[in-house]
Amino acid sequence: MADVSSKPYVPSHPDVIVVGGGIIGLSAAWQLLREGVEVAVVDPAPGTGASHAAAGMLAPIHEAYWGETHILRLNLAASQAWPAFADSLGVDAVDYRRNGMLMAAYDADDKALLDNLGDLHEQEGLPVERLRNRECRFREPLLAPGVRGGVYSPLDHQVNPRRVVAELLRRVPTIPASVTEVAGNQVATDDGRVMACQQVVVAAGAWTGRLLGVPIRPIKGQILRLSGPEGLLQLPVRGVVRGSSVYAVPRSDGEIVVGATQEEQGFDTRVTAGGVYELLRDVLALLPGLSEIDLVETWAGLRPGAPDNAPIIGTGDDGIVYATGHYRNGILTAPITATAVSAVVQGHEPPVDLVPFSPGRFDAKPGGHTPDPEHLSGVPA
Ligand SMILES: Cc1cc2nc3c(=O)[nH]c(=O)nc-3n(C[C@H](O)[C@H](O)[C@H](O)COP(=O)(O)OP(=O)(O)OC[C@H]3O[C@@H](n4cnc5c(N)ncnc54)[C@H](O)[C@@H]3O)c2cc1C
Repeated sequence: MADVSSKPYVPSHPDVIVVGGGIIGLSAAWQLLREGVEVAVVDPAPGTGASHAAAGMLAPIHEAYWGETHILRLNLAASQAWPAFADSLGVDAVDYRRNGMLMAAYDADDKALLDNLGDLHEQEGLPVERLRNRECRFREPLLAPGVRGGVYSPLDHQVNPRRVVAELLRRVPTIPASVTEVAGNQVATDDGRVMACQQVVVAAGAWTGRLLGVPIRPIKGQILRLSGPEGLLQLPVRGVVRGSSVYAVPRSDGEIVVGATQEEQGFDTRVTAGGVYELLRDVLALLPGLSEIDLVETWAGLRPGAPDNAPIIGTGDDGIVYATGHYRNGILTAPITATAVSAVVQGHEPPVDLVPFSPGRFDAKPGGHTPDPEHLSGVPA
């Protein structure tokens, strides 16, 4: 067990340098540390990226989509890795809860959409319960009386990502600097330092495409935090409301996270009146009882997305180990990415097949990515 009573010791010559201290970089560093590897994470503002915005749903089932079987397999493996990962940080400290998740349909068209997803669940042999109106409201009494039906997934869980990052930051050494140049075994930072190591891991989230020529783009998500009495909402609820998706995730302290928009807006993190309106309109249609509680925070974060929506995990031709592109599921997939990165760095067998997630998969394909010269310079301070 690591000593978390004092600030983590920063090695002067780490074996591994991780660029980016979001949940992915910090989890990879934590796994490496636990396996005896000396590591340091370089980030000017660790924990302030997408990981600070995220709702914390650990939802392989409700995140399953047609045509993404390889992502589903990774997400299921990630879900299985979560209990041990939460244990390593403290289950209560990170508010890891295994109470399942309900997806509800607002009207008949929404129900048709859910039925279609239910067919996918059945085809993949996923353990879900299809519910009628009354059964939905029995599980979550706050649901609007008119909901048409739903799907309950006992395998979809939740955690508080901000607490996970806080616990990781207590354990993992960090160097506050922005990386300007990267190679397989050294990084240069904006304060003029060049740091050498045996292996560099890049986990710079949505900014990875700016630092290196990988096709990662930012996908903006606006998200709200409400606060009410503890236990007001029994379990996380996702909804399809007139064709739009919305969710409400209750924390053990009474916070309810409502999200999230999906916008292709570049590196824009403004919270807009329209974004907040749409989220409140849809969540209050689904859970009208939330209208009386406090709106305590509006926020926006940038999900890192690859062209095929799958993460990029593995060693590139440039000798750099990549851990990025986790898009909508970076909180869920942090533990499995961490063990995969640690295995790759140490030359061990990874816990899952990484071929579908290889950094080279976009090379030399017709219409494949050509790095944008603008993206090769200028990284965030
Ligand atoms: C609104 C919203 C809701 C979400 N909800 C969920 C959810 O419920 N469940 C789920 O599983 N996922 C969710 N996600 C997705 C999840 O948040 C991301 O996939 C995940 O946080 C990505 O983690 P990361 O560490 O790769 O990126 P980030 O958390 O963005 O971290 C990247 C880090 O890299 C640093 N960095 C960038 N450039 C440099 C540089 N040049 N030098 C040094 N450091 C650098 C940044 O400062 C930052 O700290 C959500 C995302 C959003 C936006």
